[in-house]
Amino acid sequence: MSGEQPVSGAEEWLSKDRKYVWHHISPHNDNPLIFVSGDGCWITDAEGKRYFDGMSGLWCVNVGHGRETIARAAYEQMKTIAYSPMMQSHVPAIELAEKINEWLGSDYRIFYSNSGSDANEVAFKIARQHFHQNGEPSRHKFIARHRAYHGSSFGALSATGQAQRKLKYEPLGAGFEHVPPPYCYRCPFGQTYGNCKLECAEAIEDAINWEGADSVAGVIMEPVITGGGMIVPPPEYLPKVREICDKYGVLLIIDEVICGFGRSGERFGHHNYGVVPDIVTMAKGLTSGYSPLSATAVRAGLYDSFKAKEANSHFRHVNTFGGNQVSCAVALANLAILEEERLVERSAYLGQELGQRLQVLRTHPHVGDIRLFGSACGIELVEDHASKVPAAADKMLSVIGECRRRGLLVGKNGDTVPGFNNIITLCPPLITSDDELEFIAGTVIAAIEALTASQP
Ligand code: PLP
Repeated sequence: MSGEQPVSGAEEWLSKDRKYVWHHISPHNDNPLIFVSGDGCWITDAEGKRYFDGMSGLWCVNVGHGRETIARAAYEQMKTIAYSPMMQSHVPAIELAEKINEWLGSDYRIFYSNSGSDANEVAFKIARQHFHQNGEPSRHKFIARHRAYHGSSFGALSATGQAQRKLKYEPLGAGFEHVPPPYCYRCPFGQTYGNCKLECAEAIEDAINWEGADSVAGVIMEPVITGGGMIVPPPEYLPKVREICDKYGVLLIIDEVICGFGRSGERFGHHNYGVVPDIVTMAKGLTSGYSPLSATAVRAGLYDSFKAKEANSHFRHVNTFGGNQVSCAVALANLAILEEERLVERSAYLGQELGQRLQVLRTHPHVGDIRLFGSACGIELVEDHASKVPAAADKMLSVIGECRRRGLLVGKNGDTVPGFNNIITLCPPLITSDDELEFIAGTVIAAIEALTASQP
């Protein structure tokens, strides 16, 4: 895993990085890893050190690095025609919309954008406009959950339920309300699953009533809260939310930016719960990160009111690069790989295997909970089992550092409220082999065990 040759110029790149590059979200980082190549599940930095890409980049490189057919599809498309705007249409966009429908298993219209944030912005605008031109213009609010992340742009950030991400950017968009998450390990209602009334779902009904049902346009949620700490709801939660939305005529918007395209062990995360959303947003796994592209899938019936001939009844939203021909071609090649290599099934298998291999950690004093959804995994670290006090930052850094030292990149997620960023996350590429899975599990176990080994 190490011992490779440093790539020449590494020092120079680092000094230029320090001079010119502003990194995303992380506190000022003077020592970033500079990645220069990727092959399958492995990436190599400028020092020549190889790492297993245990987070698939940022929850996205599902088919792994270095895929010939994707590169070829991009090349061919660039040669054929690079770009045309989506006021008209083009073949890759048409084929991809058909393919997304096949994956969703229901009848949706597809609106393309560039990023997960864009896709959610589009969902909010479409929902508001839908009610405007269907006789309920007062419906404009959205209900989301604390701990959720829906993106960085103003609307998507307004829907996000993590205070620290919003601080210093407020005021954000009006009309976004938050309810507690379905977090059984730390039930916000003091209940125990099995003996509860799903108060977490009822909180959505309460919020609709308190806000006034005729003011609420939509409920937005991921099938499971991923970046907010891998919070997996009880199986009855999402069906109950669907019921509540139907009861009050509220649209159910499911954010599949991470869970979609196989990560959940099904084609989409909402398939795990048997619900049909009104709007589905998707990004990352759509192209496995090879090219920027996102989509907002809108139930076909909802689209009808946008076809009316009255002035301005169409969706007045354009995005120059949304639905870029090359990105659509890349997405088609990516989905072909997922299908041919049966990676959705592989994802379910990887999750089950990973869960079993990590079982030994359940009794570890610093492991509070282990949660899996398909092949995405969260290990919640605590100071001790009884108090459930979130593990201190130094313990998190120690585990992440030890994994990195051993050649495994893992994530650190949770709420950005200080002290609650205590969940180690794993989101391995769906092509991970059995040996590689053993490496991931063995490394994480060793890194967590090192916590107690180093204690007096
Ligand atoms: N929604 C979810 C659930 C996400 O995890 C993310 C990004 O991590 C987004 C939306 C925003 O996507 P993007 O970073 O592509 O704007």
